[in-house]
Amino acid sequence: MDHILIVEDSESIAALLAERCERQLGLQAQIAPSVAALQTMLATSEHRYFAAICDLNLPDAPPGAAVDLLRSKDIPIVVLTGEWSEEIRSRIWERRVADYVLKESSADISYALNVVRRLRYNPQVAALVADPLQSNREAIADILRDQKLKVLQCESPEEALQYIESRPDLRLALIDYGIGGDRGLDLTTRIRRRRKRDSLAIIALTDFELKRASARFLRSGANDVLARPFTPEELLCRINLHLDTLDLLEQLRSEAEQDFLTGLGNRHYLNERATAVYADCLSRGMPFALAMADIDHFKSINDRFGHLVGDRALKHLGRILSANTKGKDVVARIGGEEFVILLPDTLPESAARFFESLRREIAGSAIDTDSGTLAFTVSFGVATNAGASLREGLERADRLLYRAKASGRNRVVTDLTG
Ligand code: GH3
Ligand code: MG
Ligand code: MG
Repeated sequence: MDHILIVEDSESIAALLAERCERQLGLQAQIAPSVAALQTMLATSEHRYFAAICDLNLPDAPPGAAVDLLRSKDIPIVVLTGEWSEEIRSRIWERRVADYVLKESSADISYALNVVRRLRYNPQVAALVADPLQSNREAIADILRDQKLKVLQCESPEEALQYIESRPDLRLALIDYGIGGDRGLDLTTRIRRRRKRDSLAIIALTDFELKRASARFLRSGANDVLARPFTPEELLCRINLHLDTLDLLEQLRSEAEQDFLTGLGNRHYLNERATAVYADCLSRGMPFALAMADIDHFKSINDRFGHLVGDRALKHLGRILSANTKGKDVVARIGGEEFVILLPDTLPESAARFFESLRREIAGSAIDTDSGTLAFTVSFGVATNAGASLREGLERADRLLYRAKASGRNRVVTDLTG
């Protein structure tokens, strides 16, 4: 579990933050009400803190002392401050914190929590700064690093495109209008051809007098345009907004492709993934196998044990299928008690052995229920010559499954056995 530090002398605010960190983000929160308590905690705790929410003013030390201490330990910080002035603001930014929040309303607390959430995931996210001027690049790179993003830098459109090709973890590109001969417009268009809006956010950075170029950037595929001079706050808000949107899209996509009960892929996922795996295997001339699996007499399991136990049996089977597959294998639940397994790069004989051993494992396993032990079996139809399309493969596997059922169930029928 990830741990976060809350350094705050107001008991009520500290408790509120800790509670929301735990409930909303699933974090383990530890509270230090003073700099002395923070020192002890840092010296004795065996946990690594991935972030801290820290009050600027604490009773036992000068303003900012706790922030400096956390900085020296390289812990990213969200600063809380009760008062605000230009001077306080610049003192906070000087300390290279991730962000700061005014303790005024529940909206501020929500904002702080979102920054914390981002600090937790950002280490897996890469951001590209494409600008011919090194000083510009460095200034932005510093801000991004303080957000714990992986920062990539480049000074030419060609380098930028190389990163786009080679870094699937790239989620954000900051394109300066000075890159390339045409104010970065061509680069924006070329990036968009390779990465769509649901996988990469592009923010164009222009000069104020070029504000009129905004619409052209947006039409070329940029998500947003920011005119210099801008404040770090402005940049951060936009970055977080776009990264949050990408996360949301990914969550929606994964929910749309997931079978709610077993957590395996659903029919939609199968169509997407298996079609890609088919194309890949066919283009490389590699063998692959497609199986349809169906629980035997599932209706009578429901009748005897009830639907809830039936659901548990489905989950149990889902776990066995997950545990036995890996990497590019595709597993999906496509209907009530019907599953599909696609094994790329697999020879017919090894596919037959694989499904036979899977069949045995399922038949040999059991679930404890209130009405006694439940054991069940599964029949498999395995097309080792899985045809030129997913549809054709599924038809073949389904015919073989029918034969497995007709010849007594609890067996694997492949097109090898004839
Ligand atoms: P066979 O050996 O020929 O496959 O017989 P069967 O009883 O397994 O097949 P049949 O297609 O007649 O029945 C499938 C049953 O699966 C009927 C349906 O009520 C049940 N079922 C479908 N989806 C679910 C589900 O999500 N949960 C539970 N508990 N049962 C489901
Ligand atoms: Mg069945
Ligand atoms: Mg069925």
